[in-house]
Amino acid sequence: MLIYTGGTIGMIENPETGALENFNFEQLQKHVPELQKFTFPIDSYQFDPPMDSSDMEPEAWRKLVHVISEHYHQYTGFVILHGTDTMAFTASALSFMLEGLDKPVILTGSQLPIGVLRTDGKENLMTSIEIASARDRSGNPMVPEVCIFFENRLMRGNRTTKMSAENFNAFRSFNYPVLAEAGIHIKYNNVQIHIEGEKRELHPHYLLDTNIAILKLFPGIQENVVAATLAIEGLKAVVLETYGSGNASRKEWFLRRLRDASERGVVIVNVTQCSAGTVEMERYETGYHLLKAGIVSGHDSTTESAVTKLMFLLGHGYSPDEVRRRMNESMAGEISIDLSK
Ligand code: ASP
Repeated sequence: MLIYTGGTIGMIENPETGALENFNFEQLQKHVPELQKFTFPIDSYQFDPPMDSSDMEPEAWRKLVHVISEHYHQYTGFVILHGTDTMAFTASALSFMLEGLDKPVILTGSQLPIGVLRTDGKENLMTSIEIASARDRSGNPMVPEVCIFFENRLMRGNRTTKMSAENFNAFRSFNYPVLAEAGIHIKYNNVQIHIEGEKRELHPHYLLDTNIAILKLFPGIQENVVAATLAIEGLKAVVLETYGSGNASRKEWFLRRLRDASERGVVIVNVTQCSAGTVEMERYETGYHLLKAGIVSGHDSTTESAVTKLMFLLGHGYSPDEVRRRMNESMAGEISIDLSK
């Protein structure tokens, strides 16, 4: 099943203004006659109106979860056409909301509209469909996960970040190996793909709490900025984007503000501003102070994944301590936990 939410992949240039505007699914099929060449039927579901992914909201994630769970038993796999801007957020959210998933859900999009000669959209679409329908010798889906396919890489959705507003190779999974690479052949990295031994039941989840802020540190950040963020009414969690392996200023006011918020029940999760690598608060004194202030490690999580995981856990009504505990556990392969520590 092909689910078309919108984004550049389905856009066309308005001849009067030159701006890119959405067009409908029938037009998309007209521009990709190759879709007829697959030997299996492809049904579609279209968001009406299609959305630029900058307008994506948890409501749209719920809609996707609903569409997938309503049609789950009818299809081998699902391909979601989505704008690239917030694709990593949607993929992360779906990975938590679709508990027990044992079919492929592949998100893809493009940098150039599908109606443009040099589009990257056609190849992304065709390969995603191929991956979503691929089965191993025993007839099981090759990749029963929420993934992003872009350019030539299949990546675990909740490990992925958009890192180029220009290149066709727009997404990266810095902290987890790619699940497949598409060249002449599609080579699956079976060791890294999550396969559950036993049969699983899909448990769709819809509850999300968005009382979350992201606080990105920079040298010179003022106390009133930190204080104002932590004083937001109804705030339940903060993703604190720190330096390097999870380090931050040791200033007294800074640590005090964080400790007070933490004690009030605000869950503060430490995620590094670096694209690759992990938070290790015990490594430097500047990280250790955060640990002492009650901050939880986000490990090697992307910001996208930390934000959506917090929405999910808070949405399910867990206490701050329970949310903190669960942030230290992998729910859908979103963090690497070193069990030896
Ligand atoms: N603004 C577009 C979107 O995210 C960009 C894209 O699709 O690449 O919907």
